[in-house]
Amino acid sequence: MTLEEKVGQLHQVANPDPVRDADALAAGAFGTCIVASGEHAGNVRDAGTQAEAVDALQRAAVETSRLGIPLLVARDVIHGHRTVFPIPLGQAASFDADLVRECARVAAREATADGVRWTFAPMLDVAQDPRWGRVAESWGEDAWLASHLGAAAVQGFQGGPDGGNLAAPEAMASCAKHYVGYGLAQGGRDYAEVDVGPVTLHNRHLRPFRAAVEAGVATVMSAFHTLDATPMTAHVPLLRDHLKGDLGFAGPVVSDWDAVGELLHHGLAADLGEAARLAIRAGVDIDMVTGAYSAHLADLVRSGVVETALVDDAVTRVLGLKLRLGLFEAPYTDPARAAAVHLTPEHRALARRAAASAVVLLRNDGVLPLGVAGVAEAAEWAGAGAVPRRLHVTGPFATADGELFGTWTLDGRAEDAVTIADAFRERFAGTSTEVTVDDGRFVDATLVAARAADVVVACVGEHPMRSGEANSVTSVELPPGQTEVLEALARVSRHLVVVVLTGRPLALERLEHLGSALALVFHPGVEGGHGVVDVLTGDVVPSGRLPASLPWTTGQVPLHHDHLPTGRPLDPDGPVGRYRDHRDTPQYPFGFGLGYGAVVYDGLSLSAGTLRPGEVVRASARLTNLGERRVVETAQLYARAHVAPVSRPVGELAGARRVELAPGETTVVTFDVDHHLLARRDATGRERCDPGPFTIRVAPHAGAGVTARLDVVGPSGEPDGAR
Ligand code: BGC
Repeated sequence: MTLEEKVGQLHQVANPDPVRDADALAAGAFGTCIVASGEHAGNVRDAGTQAEAVDALQRAAVETSRLGIPLLVARDVIHGHRTVFPIPLGQAASFDADLVRECARVAAREATADGVRWTFAPMLDVAQDPRWGRVAESWGEDAWLASHLGAAAVQGFQGGPDGGNLAAPEAMASCAKHYVGYGLAQGGRDYAEVDVGPVTLHNRHLRPFRAAVEAGVATVMSAFHTLDATPMTAHVPLLRDHLKGDLGFAGPVVSDWDAVGELLHHGLAADLGEAARLAIRAGVDIDMVTGAYSAHLADLVRSGVVETALVDDAVTRVLGLKLRLGLFEAPYTDPARAAAVHLTPEHRALARRAAASAVVLLRNDGVLPLGVAGVAEAAEWAGAGAVPRRLHVTGPFATADGELFGTWTLDGRAEDAVTIADAFRERFAGTSTEVTVDDGRFVDATLVAARAADVVVACVGEHPMRSGEANSVTSVELPPGQTEVLEALARVSRHLVVVVLTGRPLALERLEHLGSALALVFHPGVEGGHGVVDVLTGDVVPSGRLPASLPWTTGQVPLHHDHLPTGRPLDPDGPVGRYRDHRDTPQYPFGFGLGYGAVVYDGLSLSAGTLRPGEVVRASARLTNLGERRVVETAQLYARAHVAPVSRPVGELAGARRVELAPGETTVVTFDVDHHLLARRDATGRERCDPGPFTIRVAPHAGAGVTARLDVVGPSGEPDGAR
């Protein structure tokens, strides 16, 4: 390869055109490209004949360039393609790695049919500040959950464990982004600076990236922000030394959008040549859209400023990925496949199941479920828990279609979405339940309709434009005006069910006592209406759990369950708090979510009181469903180290298990605990399990549970052996 041909492989362009860019394609001037709508951080659009467009590009690259190297076509396939699944935060509410893996697999199946073989997903930034708009794209506040679900997404996209089978036509390369610490953007302001110490960085923010590398993620994207005053695009210690060195990541690292150029704004480089030098030195192999590599890298190599070896290493990574994807053998896309695999009934069924999992029931005085499964009719409104005779569905999300998708939806079409109103009509069609609908725009008319109904379902919340990239907010309460309308509805309704659709964890203090039931739904995707109605009617057991704590008020954030203890422990229910004007704990804790049963936890037992290296201690807790309906319970394992060389969180999630319980049923849930599970990283990134006493807790959420003490013994066999 000539130097120019090598540099071409490191240059990524957006929306190339086979005619306009014919010369560049013939010259091999770019090796990868993003296909997106006109706006790169786009919204709902018509995919048209994307497969054909991609194919035309590919033919030009393969057939007109000297070396015939195929293009690698990328796209932000974040939560589905034509079949839109819940936003990642909503998928996280399932706590279900199998579901996440399956959604990613289907997304890959659909996107590859459009010629897209690389997605810029999953996002693995641990997001503990709900003001940050990109919390919608995250797996929530917890590093274990982000690692567990992020790795599952990688496996889904790439077609299996251990790096998958990328050459399979329905598999695509995934991208662990944004490396690393982006979720700590100061004040929740997107792109803002990040300051974090090494212990927290290794244990919380790097952890999901390690899990993704272990799962064989094909690519990594470096983040926009500065970490301790060095932009991640130029961060030698974290990118070249840690990611590519310590963690042994062998695939290509791509910059974020124009982030090489942004080194000028960060004040690191005076010109694009210097920016290119800094980025390639740090280990950024592909320059996303700036063109700094394309314009300057060859000259920098010729003048000896950049070593040839750096360019060769980067090109080897890019070509290695193209080889693994089988692009040299099969570069083209069959344009007929898209119609066969897009939005199939099976994909819709999965989207419906996923949407139901994105519903977290927070409060229920018994009005829910609205219909008893299998009983579609009620002669007369029989009170809470029965089928209503007159049901009024209202609010801006009652009739919303494309708004159900959430942020980063490039290929979903609004007309494919099932609205909540339509799903209710469908559910009660042919029964004596009368369903009336409005979008809440004329409040007085809504109040009249509400007064006449047995049950009112008010669907409020955040428009998707309020979350996602560059969509941060200073208040995480409901958008202006909505609470007042809900208060008015509560005054006239017999039973008010409030459904809040959102792209972020919200502070719902003002809804604490409002109405009969409250459900939080993370933007649920194309089958959102069905998913919501399935849960509200009890056709599907509510199983969503909060992947992030819900604060009472914005002033409490960031507020996350795995915080460190202070030197002055606090009785959360005691008279003295840290805030003069509010509580110290969240309104709803991490992991919380109701079902229609009533599960009690008791009898936690450990198979041994001491854990030695190489051994496993089994923790078993008894769960009993005292309710009258089936439940799907997510039992969560938390651990707390009481004595360690550095302070450790008051509770760390270390596992989760979904179990089904019939009414009255008791089951035993077990977790295997070993040194690795309890270990943490020191400031150098080394894993160590320090001996000492731990509390093991099995719990329905971060704020409860049954506990037992476990003494961990170090490698020498002495309680203090490793210290
Ligand atoms: C975002 C990335 C995204 C990229 C390409 C950037 O603005 O930060 O998450 O993958 O654009 O669209």
